[in-house]
Amino acid sequence: MELVGTTSKGRFRLELIWLNDRFGVLHDRTNLGLIRFSKDVMLIDSGIDESYARKALKIISENGLKLRWLVNTHFHADHIGGNLFIQRKSQVQTIAHPLTKPFVENPILEPMSLYCGANPPDQLRSKLFLAQPSEVHVIVENGSNFEDVQIIELPGHAPGQIGLALKDLIFAADSVFGIEILGKKGIVVYSDIGAALESLEKLRGFDQCIPSHGSISEKDLVQMNKSHIEFVAEKIHSLLKEPMSEEILLSQLIENLQIDLQDVGVYYLLRMTVLAYLSWLKKINKAQIYLEKGKTVWQSL
Ligand SMILES: [Zn+2]
Repeated sequence: MELVGTTSKGRFRLELIWLNDRFGVLHDRTNLGLIRFSKDVMLIDSGIDESYARKALKIISENGLKLRWLVNTHFHADHIGGNLFIQRKSQVQTIAHPLTKPFVENPILEPMSLYCGANPPDQLRSKLFLAQPSEVHVIVENGSNFEDVQIIELPGHAPGQIGLALKDLIFAADSVFGIEILGKKGIVVYSDIGAALESLEKLRGFDQCIPSHGSISEKDLVQMNKSHIEFVAEKIHSLLKEPMSEEILLSQLIENLQIDLQDVGVYYLLRMTVLAYLSWLKKINKAQIYLEKGKTVWQSL
């Protein structure tokens, strides 16, 4: 999931770019990673649907590589939507974090979690939110490794999100977004702001961070993403000088940041993100919540 205010539409053209002799990226709207182990290769994420995964498999075979592992960095549908196709077409071992596995195997959990645990409406059942069920065969956690490739937990955008590190380079999934994503009007998606900030600090130790969305050759991504979070947190904190309900805050934020919101499903992504900011502001004693006349009211401290 990337920017609130856009949906995944249009054609794609995956382009394979080798960053060194081991690490490649299939670059497009959602970047997929490739790590070579002699002739075997590990694919990082499967894209939003069958056609995305089909193209990735074609590129892997055209390059004389054999797909052995598929890693899911997190459970969002644009990262796991091609899993089922890949599992049908090849003898691949699928790898994920323990918090990602239940969502991959029961993908209705993603739109349900966005919709407060209730049965989600049609607008939350498009392929942007709801993937087909697929299997996870191997569980990994922070510090797990595949030969010299290390798993680094990077929660914040989604619980259980992982990155894959090889020496000074890390495929950082949605723990960082490219400048063209941050630069558009909108807010990028988070479920836990405190965790997102801690994950950004972990990334400072790497020379190059590859985002799942955006250009793969940018520097200073960590600082730019931190500044985005600080900007949005400050905006919410300042709006809440006047006490208001979550719903009113959301509409004021949409107006204030001139977010082009056209999609009901995307509204719920934005809502989750704003709730993440609110609970973080409360945790650091900058906001409080109370009940008034049957609605929750937030106010900055
Ligand atoms: Zn995501």
